Amino acid sequence: MRILGGVLGAALFWISLHAVAADVGLGATGPESAKLVRELPLADVHFHLMWFMSPEELKARMEKHNIRWVVGVGAIEGFTGKESFERDLEAKRLLGERYMPAVGWMSIRRADSDEGGAQIYTDPVNSRRDALLKLLDEQLSAEPQAVFGELHPNAESSSAIVHLKRRLPTDAPLFVELYQLAIKHKRPLPLHMQWHPDSVDRLGKLLQSDRRGTVVLAHCGKDTEAIQIREFFQKHPNVFCDLSYRSRPQTSQEGMRDPARTIYWGDGMFSTPGAKPEWIQLIEDFPDRFMVGVDDVHSWGIYDDVIESIRTGLLPQLKPETAERVAYKNAVRVFRLLGGKDAAQVERN
Ligand SMILES: [Zn+2]
Repeated sequence: MRILGGVLGAALFWISLHAVAADVGLGATGPESAKLVRELPLADVHFHLMWFMSPEELKARMEKHNIRWVVGVGAIEGFTGKESFERDLEAKRLLGERYMPAVGWMSIRRADSDEGGAQIYTDPVNSRRDALLKLLDEQLSAEPQAVFGELHPNAESSSAIVHLKRRLPTDAPLFVELYQLAIKHKRPLPLHMQWHPDSVDRLGKLLQSDRRGTVVLAHCGKDTEAIQIREFFQKHPNVFCDLSYRSRPQTSQEGMRDPARTIYWGDGMFSTPGAKPEWIQLIEDFPDRFMVGVDDVHSWGIYDDVIESIRTGLLPQLKPETAERVAYKNAVRVFRLLGGKDAAQVERN
């Protein structure tokens, strides 16, 4: 009975939450605007090419869902026998300007684990770090569409990779050097950072050290409340958010112990698609700062679910012009995606 009560309570909680979300949805949520957001091109700015994915399958998925661009954050090597950046380059060879390959996902980790600690991050001087930065610089110069892979200054309780479950100083020498390299190559730095006060403080220092640089908060800080991002955005103009891995089904499990991790959702057993009203309000107040992403998925079926959550739970809650920015226009600007004008053209026709 207690269990049944708990289940019913949880169901009622979701129903009431979603009823509220539906009521305060700021966008026009009628059939017209639903149709409009369904047809918007998307830029997925946080994508891991999983070990089971071939570039051809990705291309078919992008066509199916009208995903115009994909920004890599690190291809998974698994048992493919290929280096991460190489895998991303294969996808880029097939998809051209629609795919941004990511550097550093594995090369940073290899340089890091060789030392058995975080010395490449924190040592004042470190020859292995110098070699790593040289490699990244060369890769970014040789491949003008390349971007930085996801970095993990704080994934204490939010990574499946044991090695990444720790908190590093976000203004440690390696992050500072990467930030400068990002400025040189005019790329944002994607940081996966849980919202620990010390991490937040140090990220603030990094952003303030040079306002020419930009950081994209992967998963918008992962365990953040809207108010925390609001305060941070007010202080720092050069920080953006990707909304990957902040929707169910991806957050279903972790959302049970930490409900803050879910921002929006698609159709579910106890819910209609929607989003938390305080987040919708935040996106409307900072419409130039948010982008969408898929992140890692363990099957193409989940990939489809994530896109469905974006198209039915998130975008229809926004004003049409905000939805357009979040869907792809902000990404075109922040990542300097090629062919942005064509997409706008296609959409108007
Ligand atoms: Zn991440």
